[in-house]
Amino acid sequence: VPTLYVVATPIGNLADLTPRAQDVLRSVAAICAEDTRRSGQLLAHFGIQQPLVALHDHNEEALSQRIVARLLAGESLALVSDAGTPLVSDPGYRLVRAAREAGIKVSPVPGACAAIAALSVAGLPSDRFTFEGFLPAKASGRRERLNALAGETRTLVFYESSHRITESLADMMAAFGPERPAVLARELTKLFETVLDGDLASLLQQVEADDNQRKGEFVVMVQGAADDEEAQLAAGRRMYAKLSEHLP
Ligand code: SAM
Repeated sequence: VPTLYVVATPIGNLADLTPRAQDVLRSVAAICAEDTRRSGQLLAHFGIQQPLVALHDHNEEALSQRIVARLLAGESLALVSDAGTPLVSDPGYRLVRAAREAGIKVSPVPGACAAIAALSVAGLPSDRFTFEGFLPAKASGRRERLNALAGETRTLVFYESSHRITESLADMMAAFGPERPAVLARELTKLFETVLDGDLASLLQQVEADDNQRKGEFVVMVQGAADDEEAQLAAGRRMYAKLSEHLP
């Protein structure tokens, strides 16, 4: 049956492209990729030469129907993103929804995902967690989002880039308190892989003290609020402090 395969690609180490992913990518009529140049390089490394179709946030809505038409005509296609699992802070959601609505089989070829890789080495409670993806770029939006999460008891997982890692850690410290346990996973599966743990204050201090610790790609994980009255009181106090800024 014609299938849309959603294929995870490596988050750094090329050897993490699974044998099944390679087989599937070789077997399809075309591969939809966020950045055809980047994916082209990855595929060339494995000697995979399928045609590439550029599918990114800006053309996804318009292109999805054309891709669905190819699937309905009997072709199998694959979807990849620049790194890791498509749809996880990456394009693909609209295409997958359009394919499902058209009754097309959509099948996962699982593999690397930075959030899950990071959680697996953090040593934070991960029986329940909440994936928050990227925080808003603007400081006001970021602080608002973090304040809303202050009382969350599940482990929080964020994606962050080198541009904003210091600001984000500082804002997390303000929202969750300096002593909240946290883990910073950087450049996973790559040459400079580093996993720092401690509390938010010590993570911020380590990142501020060493330029190298601000380079690359990050997953920030923060332990949830303690599930007791004190945590609720603390969240209430922080909210009161925030509100009082706006009161005459
Ligand atoms: N779809 C991808 C996945 O499955 O993880 C995520 C794509 S998102 C655009 C890119 C973000 O993922 C980076 O800014 C970083 O937060 C995280 N990330 C990707 N690769 C990583 C790595 N090797 N180490 C740490 N974080 C990584």
